[in-house]
Amino acid sequence: MSSSTAVTLIAGDGVGPEVAESARKIVDATGVKIDWHEHEAGAEVFKKGLATGVPEETITSIEQTRVVLKGPLATPVGFGEKSANVTLRKLFETYANVRPVREMPGVPTPYSGRGIDLVVVRENVEDLYAGIEHMETPDVAQTLKLISRKGCEKIVKLAYALAEAENRTNVACATKANIMKMTEGMLKRTFEDIAPEHPEIDSWHVIVDNCAHQLVKKPEQFEMIITTNMNGDILSDLTSALVGGLGFAPSANLGTDVAIFEAVHGSAPKYAGQDTINPTAMILSAVLMLRHIGELEAASSVENAVMATLASGVRTRDVMGDEGSVGTTAYTEAIIGNLGRSVPEWTARPVKQVQMPVPRKEAAFIIPESVELIGVDVFFQTEEAPDKVGTAGQLIAEGTKLELKMVECRGTQVWPATRAQLDPTDVMRARFITRGSVITSEDILDLLGRFGGRFNWVHVEKLRMFDGEPSFSRAQGEV
Ligand code: NAP
Repeated sequence: MSSSTAVTLIAGDGVGPEVAESARKIVDATGVKIDWHEHEAGAEVFKKGLATGVPEETITSIEQTRVVLKGPLATPVGFGEKSANVTLRKLFETYANVRPVREMPGVPTPYSGRGIDLVVVRENVEDLYAGIEHMETPDVAQTLKLISRKGCEKIVKLAYALAEAENRTNVACATKANIMKMTEGMLKRTFEDIAPEHPEIDSWHVIVDNCAHQLVKKPEQFEMIITTNMNGDILSDLTSALVGGLGFAPSANLGTDVAIFEAVHGSAPKYAGQDTINPTAMILSAVLMLRHIGELEAASSVENAVMATLASGVRTRDVMGDEGSVGTTAYTEAIIGNLGRSVPEWTARPVKQVQMPVPRKEAAFIIPESVELIGVDVFFQTEEAPDKVGTAGQLIAEGTKLELKMVECRGTQVWPATRAQLDPTDVMRARFITRGSVITSEDILDLLGRFGGRFNWVHVEKLRMFDGEPSFSRAQGEV
């Protein structure tokens, strides 16, 4: 028998304590020795006035155990505190969110019989979830979509390590690279660079909206989908619905040092304390945790027992409705009673322990041989007509090393006029480009000083060429 493994247990909010207790009981019943360190995070912590929702003791415990089984945490909506979930993911750089779904016996869905068994590997700390937002004006909100080569490389390498450990031979990368060529394109390019290292795996790219369409039409064509944070959030809720809903969707947040296992679902407050919630998602998250700590046999035993229980007709309210369903506690006991049993054709997939890739430490992965400053984009507040703005911008640039190339609003050129029928907001962007000579930051500061005398600028971006390639996109209508 193995020695005991320390795991931080966060019961969470709403239905969290019920599903966490169910998973803990089942893991304990396998005989695997877990030393549970119970700590809190989420709603109760916010109520005590801690804005992160995650107390120091919890952070210290995770630093020590490096493995967490976590119930859902309620997130305050709108302004105010950040999500405690996102805080945990970011604090421990759990850069990958792994969300497997599999058809379950006794859980009828429109897809029953098609053998859905796929995993969404979602980038977990970058993208729009960086949460860097600004009100440009009271009318216009902006968020930054940040995607790094480093982040993409980490997620793609981990996905292939997982595919190999689970013997999956088909890996799709879903992006919106056709529109966001730099950000979403970064994942596509990184995927295409790394895929040839895995010739035994069929690797392909799919545009994310088509991926959603294909998942509804023919989900069995997918074995693994690698995607960016926001896309993965949406696609993985879709995939959970294919196999019976959020009650059956587990997840693992994996980092180089720390792993956090949790159900995909939230705190479902309306079901809290009723002993009716389906704990399967949390139990299957504990299965992922057991595999992570090397308890492969116990993990398969729990997964087989879950399938044996469902196949025997013991199911919760979300599957059966009120008639004929069992409560959370009875369902848990039935699974414990089925440990050691399995149903033919419904057995756990043979897997190896995932060898977590060791990421490169450098901050910059791509060092260009040449960098050339060629201009600046200035975002500013105005309610003036585009032709007036354009004329003013030309005058401002007179006598400087830069000239006004165009003005746009929400990504569409408004000066020089195009045929676009735009309904402008009160934020525009003026693009100034060098008149031909080499320019420096001082030239840009000079221009900005003049521009600020006429318009209220809110932020600027330098325009550069990396190895002769522009570091910026063109506006709609810009030539
Ligand atoms: P939710 O808690 O996931 O619940 C939405 C619906 O999903 C429920 O009403 C229920 O559908 C179904 N559902 C959820 N868990 C289920 C389970 N175990 N078994 C069967 N059905 C289940 O989402 P929400 O209401 O949007 O969010 C509530 C709170 O949780 C929010 O504060 C949110 O921020 C937080 N949240 C936390 C996490 C996390 O900790 N990782 C994730 C998501 C949301 P029916 O009503 O159809 O029965």
